[in-house]
Amino acid sequence: MECWVSMPKVELHAHLNGSVRNSTLLEFAKELGEKGIIVFSDVEHVVLKDDRSLTEVFKLFDLIHILTTDHATVTRITKEVVEDFAAENVVYLELRTTPKRNDSRGMTKRSYLEAVVEGLRRVDAVDIDFASTGVVLENKKKSCYMNNECDGISRKKIYVRLLLSIDRRETLEAAMETVKLALEMKDVGVVGIDLSGNPRVGEWTTFLPALKFAREQGLHVTLHCGEVPNQEEIHRMLDFLPERIGHACCLEEDAWRKLEMSKIPVEICLTSNIRTNTISSIDVHHFADLYNKKHPLVLCTDDSGVFSTSLSKEYAIAAAAFGIGKKDLFQLARNAVELSFAGEKVVRELKELFDLVGKSLA
Ligand code: 5GP
Repeated sequence: MECWVSMPKVELHAHLNGSVRNSTLLEFAKELGEKGIIVFSDVEHVVLKDDRSLTEVFKLFDLIHILTTDHATVTRITKEVVEDFAAENVVYLELRTTPKRNDSRGMTKRSYLEAVVEGLRRVDAVDIDFASTGVVLENKKKSCYMNNECDGISRKKIYVRLLLSIDRRETLEAAMETVKLALEMKDVGVVGIDLSGNPRVGEWTTFLPALKFAREQGLHVTLHCGEVPNQEEIHRMLDFLPERIGHACCLEEDAWRKLEMSKIPVEICLTSNIRTNTISSIDVHHFADLYNKKHPLVLCTDDSGVFSTSLSKEYAIAAAAFGIGKKDLFQLARNAVELSFAGEKVVRELKELFDLVGKSLA
């Protein structure tokens, strides 16, 4: 496991509220229990249970949102999530989250996002670069990987960019508000839009005008696609030519061929797909087919808290299940740099970093 932890990695599919530590969720639940807002004993086993169906996962998200949706909490979980990824040598993190309104806490989509950005500012365990222009909070020393020696004095550095998610439960108006917010917040590192939420809810076409608008305005777009076997939707999503898709689990043959032809990169979430029974077992996971065909793909966690995983674990699982060696998985991680929505400068810097580490592996 250690070798997967120490390897630099790129995370492109991580939901903020799905990546919260269990210990933090339980702490929030206790506090709300003491205030009489929830019954702690009802909540504890829901947080700690780890074999959930896709439907149960979305029920858990509703609970997590009750526990986390105030400004201070959003700031805290953002800081913790970024530091957790950095601790396992994720050098580039594209973190996605759904801006939320919570009238009882005076929260608007904008103030939610500002609380997320405040969480990025508060990261202090590592150096962080989170702005496409403007703010870069870096220690003056070269980062650990850049120095090519982790001597305990040099600090780790993580690049973080944000994707704003549209939840399939939302209205087109709410989705438009999210896209406009993304445009206004580009200078604090918002690079794109994601469509997510319960795949059995709503019609994705509701959001098409917002997704088209996002793309016209220069935002990157990724879609959750093929988590349930809705072939009509899968085809229309692929026809839209998003820059990446998440999951791609339930594609029948002609959709599969369309995906292969299109070369749309796939964000693969092994543990999430198995835990939610979207894929029956790891040995039939479509990762192997895509990998063997050299289709662009990236290993991701999806919801490291909800599924008790980490990016290092996902690499370890891929190595064990598909017999891929360290050098090849290192190359897979390096290739993911090209699939990121970061600009040219960040891509160049990350490639330099990977090449430096690659030399020491050779
Ligand atoms: P948040 O956007 O609140 O930071 O992260 C949690 C939200 O991400 C969930 O409420 C859900 O909308 C979305 N999400 C997390 N994991 C998944 C997943 O596996 N599939 C889909 N479709 N949406 C997800």
